[in-house]
Amino acid sequence: MRAPLYHLSRRARDIRAPRKWAREEGDGAGRRGYTRGVNQCFFASDLHGRVDRYDKLFAAIEREIPYAVFLGGDLLPHGFAPLSSGDPGYRNFIEDFVAAGLERLQSRLRERYPYVFVILGNDDAKPEESSVIEIAARGLWIYAHGRRFDLESVTVYGYACVPPTPFMRKDWERYDVSRYVPPGCVSPEEGRLLAAPSAARAREVRFTTIQDDLDRLVGDADVRNAVFLFHAPPYDTALDRVPHDGKMVDHVPMDLHVGSLAVRRFIEKRQPLLTLHGHIHESARLTGAWCDRIGRTMMLNAAHDGPELALVRFDLHDPSRAERVLI
Ligand SMILES: [Zn+2]
Repeated sequence: MRAPLYHLSRRARDIRAPRKWAREEGDGAGRRGYTRGVNQCFFASDLHGRVDRYDKLFAAIEREIPYAVFLGGDLLPHGFAPLSSGDPGYRNFIEDFVAAGLERLQSRLRERYPYVFVILGNDDAKPEESSVIEIAARGLWIYAHGRRFDLESVTVYGYACVPPTPFMRKDWERYDVSRYVPPGCVSPEEGRLLAAPSAARAREVRFTTIQDDLDRLVGDADVRNAVFLFHAPPYDTALDRVPHDGKMVDHVPMDLHVGSLAVRRFIEKRQPLLTLHGHIHESARLTGAWCDRIGRTMMLNAAHDGPELALVRFDLHDPSRAERVLI
């Protein structure tokens, strides 16, 4: 059984028409073959509560007025400490800073305010999900984890969970295709949960894989014209490389690729139009590539291990000409 399809409101789509001209003027278009189109989208991920990255993203949204914005998880600070100079250390970052910024944009852009799709990532505490849902209810963004949406002629799917990592925070971890835990990683059944533990959750983590979740989410739907917002990258691509060269754990070499095999197999088999990924900050630096392809599927990575915001721009109907800028 697959997830129900949510139709984004007709009214919202109709009043979006005037922005066509708004997107065709201004700067930034035409670099490296990229042309700003009617359905220009932004993709950003792994902002990790950095106020300066959000400020840059909000400014770009206000300047360029994209059609849709995709936020790929790991969006919040790890704790409440200030993360950069000038960052006051918000007590409730998601509400007091992120939602407040989106509210400001919405009041300025009004009917031209973009669709904003959001998922959380493995570094975001599960209890924050209730704020994400509450902010969605106010119309500031669309919570996409485990759901699908009809947007123009494409379908948008969201999925936040990642395969086992070495990190202890396990709210958004799942076994990948089996109960295998790679060398150097900690099982999702160990580690720490910030959500309240429950027997149901324990069962779910023990017996559910990312592969099962994707089967349930997508069912037998035709995804050739679908966009997937994932936190995890696909295994063994330019998007999931880590600097583990020569490292051993218990005499076993650590894998240099740490993406999801379930996500990879899903892309190989189902060939969606476009997949968006974050999670592995170093990968673009190590492989020299922030995009990759499996068959006809274009795969883009917005995670970045420098101080800048990595902003990926793409046209919803021609993602092969995407560009990524560090700002
Ligand atoms: Zn991250």
